[in-house]
Amino acid sequence: MKAVCWMGPKDVRCEDIPEPRIVNPRDAIVRVTATAICGSDLHLVNGYIPSMQSGDVLGHEFMGEIVEVGSSTTRVKVGDRVVVPFTIACGNCENCVNGRTSLCENTNPNAWMAEKLFGHSTSGLFGYSHMTGGYAGGQAEYVRVPHADVGCFKVPDTLTDEQVLFLTDIFPTGYMAAENCGIAPGDIVAVWGCGPVGQFAIRSAYMLGAEQVIAIDRVPARLEMARSQSDATVVLDYEEVDVLDELRSLTGGRGPDHCIDAVGLEAHGTGFMFAYDKVKQMLKLEQDRPYALRQAMIACRPGGTLSVPGVYGGFLDKMPFGAVMNKGLTLRTGQTHVHRYLEPLLARIDGGDIDPSFIVTHRGSLEDAPHLYDTFMEKREGCVKCVMTPNAD
Ligand code: NAD
Ligand code: ZN
Ligand code: ZN
Repeated sequence: MKAVCWMGPKDVRCEDIPEPRIVNPRDAIVRVTATAICGSDLHLVNGYIPSMQSGDVLGHEFMGEIVEVGSSTTRVKVGDRVVVPFTIACGNCENCVNGRTSLCENTNPNAWMAEKLFGHSTSGLFGYSHMTGGYAGGQAEYVRVPHADVGCFKVPDTLTDEQVLFLTDIFPTGYMAAENCGIAPGDIVAVWGCGPVGQFAIRSAYMLGAEQVIAIDRVPARLEMARSQSDATVVLDYEEVDVLDELRSLTGGRGPDHCIDAVGLEAHGTGFMFAYDKVKQMLKLEQDRPYALRQAMIACRPGGTLSVPGVYGGFLDKMPFGAVMNKGLTLRTGQTHVHRYLEPLLARIDGGDIDPSFIVTHRGSLEDAPHLYDTFMEKREGCVKCVMTPNAD
């Protein structure tokens, strides 16, 4: 079958590889009909996430039809049309039972690697390095889904693939980022990063009652998409204005009530602090470039919330943690507990509150992956989100 493989940093190819097989009675095999490229995949391609191996199949945002099930599956069956959360959950451990499925204690066979770095591990993740289990991803014609009864979520035929595909990751991720803020009526939310996660964080902040969102990026098409989400939105190009000054003046000197970092470890920036991060990261003296996160810490109003869906991989330098402590900020973050959002967010889509397909700007086949990855990485041609359709006849 065809699959999109990570062959080394900056080397993504569509390869012919063997089809997956059932290896555990709780598995299912899904024939993939739609799969997306995520900003998290860019961290892999750029070589910032350790423990990738040449030939690893990429992709953690995918959906399709179940074509085979193991003998112990009870809930899902052949023929079901399903979306699959990027976090792999057993459904039975303490974290799963309490809705913290991205922290499932049973699905990462390589937890020891993460424990060395972080003290504890996340759940297994599809297509996201050996540190998170080495599971083959879904940018392929077929994918094996472990714990299929928990991981396969049926979606109605009345909705298109592009309307439900983003339930696998970025819609719940943006929603959880906004929910983590504890938004009250009248609140102002600042969102750094207008990529797919930022766009869903903006939309979710409004759904949860924010009065105004201030969206920060530098890519014109992404700022325009952010602006188009609501008349109340103000956008800032961080290369054109002093973000901290603007945020102060837009909030009467107080600072935003909540600050969402939807940028993560590959932030860009201007001036000395950005040059400092770039050089230290190149020399491997720092793993991440937390430019946006630092700014969010300084910008946030006293008593406000810092919500961080952006991915960080390790050790961050020159963090103004004194600002977090002295201003009494609440810090909330995490890989998304996707499973807990599937039903409520599907209801929002079904009910017409949101049509997540607004995010898709580029489409193609698995063979187009190298070009699509490049276009998404460089944010060319107004690219916000790429969807590939394997098995499209
Ligand atoms: P993306 O790369 O498409 O978007 C990031 C955006 O940030 C870009 O538009 C870029 O121009 C902008 N940016 C860079 N530096 C900035 C700065 N200093 N200020 C403001 N904007 C800046 O990625 P995405 O798909 O939207 O994902 C965003 C982040 O969320 C990534 O780190 C990704 O790994 C992470 N993510 C986390 C989860 C989770 O479970 N927590 C899930 C999905 C994605
Ligand atoms: Zn993702
Ligand atoms: Zn579990």
